[in-house]
Amino acid sequence: MPSPAYAWPGGREAAITLTFDDGTKSQLERAIPYMNKLGLRGSFYLNPKDGEWEERLQPWRAVADAGHEIGNHTCSHPCSRALWGQDHGLESMTLAELEADILKAEERLRKIIPAQTERTFCYPCYYHHVGSGPTRQSYVPLIAKHFVAGRGGTCNLGFAVAPQACDLAYLEGHPAERLAGYEMIGLCERAAARGHWLLLVFHGIQDGGLAVADGDFRELCDHLKRHENRFWTDTTLNVAKHVKAQRK
Ligand SMILES: [Zn+2]
Repeated sequence: MPSPAYAWPGGREAAITLTFDDGTKSQLERAIPYMNKLGLRGSFYLNPKDGEWEERLQPWRAVADAGHEIGNHTCSHPCSRALWGQDHGLESMTLAELEADILKAEERLRKIIPAQTERTFCYPCYYHHVGSGPTRQSYVPLIAKHFVAGRGGTCNLGFAVAPQACDLAYLEGHPAERLAGYEMIGLCERAAARGHWLLLVFHGIQDGGLAVADGDFRELCDHLKRHENRFWTDTTLNVAKHVKAQRK
């Protein structure tokens, strides 16, 4: 059964958030100029890793000035040890260590982009645990404590979140890599039919890992712009704040 109509601003049918992980060069060179041209805003999740982080964050000041969200993706991008067979990873970390890493990223982002005092979080590699086996625990409560919302991933392809029932501290994002323009548009239309919130996850645009072709990305953006009376395209932060306010 479709969920009941949700009160998106302006009577629109769905919220769409274009999210971008890892602060890649192709996002700066390809995604942002095209989104700016169309007036679409997205959320860009950065890792201000140790060493020259101030220089690396500089280009993102203009991105923030254009109305995009600069989100927290931790400093060191910790992932599961199972991913690459490393010695160090989320399984060998404590919640306190992870919190320190996240707060260090927060301090650095605020220093370079002081105008953005609140932001959302993005789970590196979609994982949300520390420890393993009997000591494994979720770090979602940590994100709920420090952020308006957190964006993760999903195992359910085709999925968009139901705003009235979702956990804002772990919003399931839909990976966009290798999808064609018509497939991404199809996901937006499916979300509209249900009144849901689709969070698409991008890494590379045309170049780099987990990429989407430039032409496909533009086709999606053109569709969202052409149907802006039906789709509310905005940052994770702005949509999450709306959802939170509706619940009160
Ligand atoms: Zn990442």
